[in-house]
Amino acid sequence: MKRLVMKFGGTSSADAARLDACAGLIASRHRQDIALAVVVSAPAGMTDQLTNDVKQADPQAQWPDEGDAVLAAGEQINAALLAMALRRQGLAARSLTGWQAGILTNDDHGRAKVQSVDAVRLGKLVDTGTIAVIAGFQGLGPNGRITTLGRGGSDLSAVALAVALKAEACEIFTDVQGVYSADPRLVTQAKPIKRLSYDELLEMASQGAKVMQSRSVELAMSEKVVLRICSSFDENTDGTIIDRQAGLERAIVRAVSYSRDEARIMVHAMPAGPEALRNIFAAFGQADLQIDLIVQSPGETAGESTLVFSLRRADADQALDVLTKPCHNLMLKDVQLDREMAKVSVIGIGLRSQTSMAHTMFETLLAHNIPVGAVATSETRISVLIPENDVEMAVRALHSAFDLDRN
Ligand code: ADP
Ligand code: ASP
Ligand code: MG
Repeated sequence: MKRLVMKFGGTSSADAARLDACAGLIASRHRQDIALAVVVSAPAGMTDQLTNDVKQADPQAQWPDEGDAVLAAGEQINAALLAMALRRQGLAARSLTGWQAGILTNDDHGRAKVQSVDAVRLGKLVDTGTIAVIAGFQGLGPNGRITTLGRGGSDLSAVALAVALKAEACEIFTDVQGVYSADPRLVTQAKPIKRLSYDELLEMASQGAKVMQSRSVELAMSEKVVLRICSSFDENTDGTIIDRQAGLERAIVRAVSYSRDEARIMVHAMPAGPEALRNIFAAFGQADLQIDLIVQSPGETAGESTLVFSLRRADADQALDVLTKPCHNLMLKDVQLDREMAKVSVIGIGLRSQTSMAHTMFETLLAHNIPVGAVATSETRISVLIPENDVEMAVRALHSAFDLDRN
């Protein structure tokens, strides 16, 4: 029998009416004689609420194992509620926690990595026609403690189970009609994309498009899991297919993504030459700080340079400490932090070889008076760091400049 994984996100499963709608979609697949493993997120907003509860109970984050036990609860509630909604429709269904489904992880609480999935029992269960409803976002660590897989981690649960079950495909049901050329909540002209390659979706997800967790796309890409991202609100739309053939594409720029929670640090009057850079990045490495866009330019005085880089806003204070506090030995004096930055990226295959793309990008930003803090290019994207206030204007203007408004 064919096996399929269906995953429902938080807005799609936010209340009893939405759970009934999910049950309807599952029932129609069940009628096609397909063995079904269904992954469900916590109802919208619950993980945020639980995160706040954990912050209050453990402000210093000393007990991440108990924190994960709290965070994982939202998905468990929804899995059981969805199993009941399916039973109300007369279907055989049962809920499972992540570990009952066989998901084993490392012990990195809050962002655990899936180490293995033992899906033999789950496979047998679904092959008998019972619909397995699995709590997403969670697994079991080496010490027998509950772990969570990072925000958006139910996508990863779904892809990992699709790999282990050798499912035909993994369907991600969400609150929009698929993957769009830009966030449809920001750009009303954004269009759903019919087919995308794994590389393009991965680049979009890692540059801020929230529609799928980037780690789940990495896994789907390496294991060649066919993904369909589609709406749980509107059955009659096709959604977006991601598979191997989808790489042969026409339009070069496929989408514009953005991420708001960026910060920029400028280090002035730094000694020129590679040694200062080596010391800074060694200290960041030790502090496990990830740096994104980097620009170094000559300073005003000979022998000095200016270093500009971006990083996640949540890491900015720690990076400032590393650069300036005596205990880290760098003790740089002239360091400036801009907290309110954003990153906007245009995404497509073969961008590096098309210089006209960079030209269009900078011309558009210039026409809208948007200052560019730093730039990075790769085969599949051009990213710029800009003030957060300008992000909506930049995304809309670039969407239009790259002809994504038309279809
Ligand atoms: P779920 O709860 O189903 O996991 P998410 O909120 O995690 O859903 O992801 C869906 C949201 O991603 C959409 O509501 C949309 O606002 C946002 N999004 C951002 N960029 C894109 C894009 N390029 N295409 C589709 N959705 C996007
Ligand atoms: N509930 C978790 C979150 O909000 C996991 C998920 O939705 O995928 O991040
Ligand atoms: Mg999500």
